[in-house]
Amino acid sequence: MAEPTPATEKRERRRVRELEVVVARVRRETTDTTSLFFAADQPFEYEAGHFCTIDPHQFPVLKHFVAHLEDLKGHQEKPRAYSLGSAPHEEHVVVTVKEETYSSGETPYPPVLSPLLAHHTPVGTRLVISGFTGAYTLPHDAAERIDQVVHVCAGSGIVPSLGLIKSSLHRNEPFRHILLYSSKTRHDIIYYQDFEELQRQHPDKFEVIHCLTREEPAGLRGGRRGRITKELLQETIADPGRALAFTCGPGITPYERKAAREKGEEPTPRFVEHMVALLHEVGLDRKQVKQESWG
Ligand SMILES: Cc1cc2nc3c(=O)[nH]c(=O)nc-3n(C[C@H](O)[C@H](O)[C@H](O)COP(=O)(O)OP(=O)(O)OC[C@H]3O[C@@H](n4cnc5c(N)ncnc54)[C@H](O)[C@@H]3O)c2cc1C
Repeated sequence: MAEPTPATEKRERRRVRELEVVVARVRRETTDTTSLFFAADQPFEYEAGHFCTIDPHQFPVLKHFVAHLEDLKGHQEKPRAYSLGSAPHEEHVVVTVKEETYSSGETPYPPVLSPLLAHHTPVGTRLVISGFTGAYTLPHDAAERIDQVVHVCAGSGIVPSLGLIKSSLHRNEPFRHILLYSSKTRHDIIYYQDFEELQRQHPDKFEVIHCLTREEPAGLRGGRRGRITKELLQETIADPGRALAFTCGPGITPYERKAAREKGEEPTPRFVEHMVALLHEVGLDRKQVKQESWG
């Protein structure tokens, strides 16, 4: 058997594993979204843009609810994934959870885990997370190939971009980041102050444009009215050949894909599918676009 090299040892240590954490801080972001800051008594090893998973079975308060849903659904509830909004140089691992809702007649089941994490997980709560993994990360040779990173995000799809941007600015990487962030209203913007602060500290490396779909961006610095369009991408991407895009937000769910297949139809594209198509139209190829979607 080959001797382990430093690289294989590092990979080995990076393998997904369980970690007991404690909630060190809770920060309400919007009415339905909360950030949980986790501390542990061992170092966190991850890359910006990674996610962790949280198994709902570990919470005694959910025990009967989860058992009942498993009976109804006929399968075990799986761990839920949460992107990290933190960067590896920071003290805490941060997840930001948006509460899913139940709409009678529209959604078949109530959400399992997000209401608990978003509203009832106070400082001092101990829990087990598994991590860290994911492909929504900056390539290691990015500095040689790109001048600009474009983040095209909606709603809670902003979470991994905060980690990516903070990490890259901290490491003083040579490219610029531009964030195009779609929210319904000013009150739905997650991490508004974090982005203001990062722009203030790094004015020539980072810019944010807030696109509000349901109200005028009155008084909002960098605010635009409406959705993220092809024209906005063309305006902000200086050289498509030397750009890398990250797009994250609502995408076609596995349930929607299955329902469409059963009807013999194509599922209706949602935010991420639409943005990927626009990014290709403005000249980025498949390898230049990273995507992640949920719900
Ligand atoms: C890589 C990754 C990263 C993620 N990062 C984040 C993040 O940073 N922040 C965040 O808030 N979320 C994130 N998510 C989403 C997260 O994992 C959960 O899906 C989310 O919190 C909802 O979980 P829940 O248990 O509350 O709801 P669930 O119980 O999973 O229900 C969600 C919805 O699915 C519907 N549903 C359930 N079963 C069916 C069915 N059989 N048929 C049709 N519809 C059904 C429910 O009615 C409900 O509307 C991420 C997901 C992935 C894959």
